[in-house]
Amino acid sequence: MQRSDPQCRRLVGVSKRALRRRHPATAVLWRFKNGKIYTYIGEVCVSVNPYRTMNIYDNSYVNQYKGRELFENPPHIFAIADASHKVMKQQGRDTCIVISGESGSGKTEASKIIMKYIAAVTNQGGQKDIERVKNILIQSNSILEAFGNAKTNRNDNSSRFGKYMDIHFDFKGDPIGGHINKYLLEKCRVIYQQNGERNFHCFYQMLSGCSDDMLRKFSLSRNPSDYFYVKQGNATKVSTINDKSDFKDVTHSLNSLDFSKDEQDSLWKIVAAILHLGNIEFMNQDEKLSVKNSKSVEYVASLLQVQRKELERALCERVIAARGDIMRKEHTESEANYGRDALAKAVYDRLFGWIVDRINSAISVDESNYQYKYKSSLIGVLDIYGFEIFDNNSFEQFCINYCNEKLQQLFIELVLKQEQEEYNREGIEWQNIDYFNNQIICDLVEAQHTGILSIMDDACKMTAERVTDELLLENMDKKLKGHKHYCSRQLKPAFKQLRHKVDFQITHYAGDVTYCINGFLDKNKDTLFQDFKRLLYSSQDLNLRNMWPEGSQHISETTKRPATAGTLFKNSMQELVKNLLSKEPHYVRCIKPNEMKSASAFDVERVQHQVSYLGLVENVRVRRAGFAYRQRYDRFLKRYKMISQFTWPNFRSGQDRDGIKIIMDERGFSQDVKYGKTKIFIRSPRTIFALESARNEL
Ligand code: ATP
Ligand code: MG
Repeated sequence: MQRSDPQCRRLVGVSKRALRRRHPATAVLWRFKNGKIYTYIGEVCVSVNPYRTMNIYDNSYVNQYKGRELFENPPHIFAIADASHKVMKQQGRDTCIVISGESGSGKTEASKIIMKYIAAVTNQGGQKDIERVKNILIQSNSILEAFGNAKTNRNDNSSRFGKYMDIHFDFKGDPIGGHINKYLLEKCRVIYQQNGERNFHCFYQMLSGCSDDMLRKFSLSRNPSDYFYVKQGNATKVSTINDKSDFKDVTHSLNSLDFSKDEQDSLWKIVAAILHLGNIEFMNQDEKLSVKNSKSVEYVASLLQVQRKELERALCERVIAARGDIMRKEHTESEANYGRDALAKAVYDRLFGWIVDRINSAISVDESNYQYKYKSSLIGVLDIYGFEIFDNNSFEQFCINYCNEKLQQLFIELVLKQEQEEYNREGIEWQNIDYFNNQIICDLVEAQHTGILSIMDDACKMTAERVTDELLLENMDKKLKGHKHYCSRQLKPAFKQLRHKVDFQITHYAGDVTYCINGFLDKNKDTLFQDFKRLLYSSQDLNLRNMWPEGSQHISETTKRPATAGTLFKNSMQELVKNLLSKEPHYVRCIKPNEMKSASAFDVERVQHQVSYLGLVENVRVRRAGFAYRQRYDRFLKRYKMISQFTWPNFRSGQDRDGIKIIMDERGFSQDVKYGKTKIFIRSPRTIFALESARNEL
């Protein structure tokens, strides 16, 4: 950014020091302005999306950060990756790196940089099987992004699923395997995209990248605008994306991960079938529902390898089993449309799950290798969809934003709360600092009986047809009346003719979001007619058939009502938080500098807002009033004993703490230090820098 840039004008003439004091965002801005995208706040690494290629990730940087302490080098995401790897390797503790920030702030890029760093610093011996694991960990990204990412109005490569990846390491600290957990894929994107957005990348990649032969075999044209499911956003071409070469990369990655030819064939056939499925329309003639364009049905049936007649029947009617009787009930046109879309979403969602399973089986830890029985520990990397506010926010945004509330809660728990608790535990004098605890918002969504998810589930359990989204909203209003973070919105003037309200608002930790209730019940129920499950199970394509084991159930067998989408998501979030709590966390907080995806603009207010809601202001306050660094006495002495003649080469007289006290007094740092019961606490990072350089000067 140039000094003449208007965004920077308020900085001119202000001293660095004053800037830092004013708001933590100003420190971030100051560094960013000087081409430095990383800043530490405590041990949290704040990363500002540069929207341009930075030459700060090559081997010389890897070597600079490898094996060094956090404060020895300028802030960098490599230092976080290294710290995580070091703790894992040296102390045998599981660690995790939680990457958070709003959509487009750079989380996915950060997670890839971390993985590349880990790949660069491990397997110095060049072992083949470890090289293979590293390769898969990296190659899996392009496959997952092809099927799980899409262009949104916020980000041209937005993750539409949450990803948590465990990397397992052996005792030498080399990766020996991994496991990916995915969270709630935004499957409604398969059937609908807002203006300016696209469906998942894979559709466009296949259409522009596959061979003419394949295209012919799949009865497709190259033009995405011929397919309803992928053209609704009017943005089939994206200037920053090269679908054709991405298709090549994905194919290369699929080959590297040993997806067989047969598996790849099934995979692309399913993608093609969904394109044709979206073009199917229905008509009502002489009170009979039928398919308008039977060619499309024929294509879908042939690609999914099911009987054409059976597919047509499942699209137009459903079987109902009631008290031993089996009846067929014809769909209304809107039911048929609903059924078709539900089929497309479900088939895609299963396909995505299958891809993740396949990747997992390619990188599962080889337990038969005796060395791996002694596998040391793991690093988890979390890259999950960021907080988002669109013009229209629906069930998906509700889930995504709830997920971000949970992660914020985790941050509060681990960084703000535990920090203060540690001071109390260690007997360090301390003035508690207030922070906003978002538990109240998590409860609003997830509390049993009284939370929104619970109220929604109750509505889904009611069988009466007349339970509508609007009635659900009325119920929520009744039960949540007076809640500080909830209100239902007045009708927009354009909708005044409607009897019911359709919007509600949640005051999230990151801002107010208005959700439109329309579609919440359907999305939560997530019904797929049994007929489709049986149909897919009857497929001659074994890969597809295996994705639908429940289709083997006989019509008359009663099925238990499956858990709702909301409840499944809540359970997976609670499981995730429990998992993260069991590991030593490292944080990367990503910041989006502007809305234009520009490499030069820095919207100060936007950044301040993000820094505030990410809890970094409180973090700074806790840190400023507190201590930037703390370490157990034994470890601290081990690292710095050589800089004092009193403790080196021999230190026998007294406890670790006494030795440390002498070192710190000798160096003139006594004012900067407090001694807890088991740890030393140091206020300023400068003290650590000085100790580190004293070590290096020896
Ligand atoms: P979402 O929540 O939507 O998935 P995200 O936080 O994962 O968003 P990314 O996809 O990582 O965001 O980043 C968005 C874009 O910003 C990238 O496609 C890339 O163009 C740019 N970007 C992010 N981080 C960097 C970086 N470190 N260096 C260069 N460009 C970057
Ligand atoms: Mg992402």
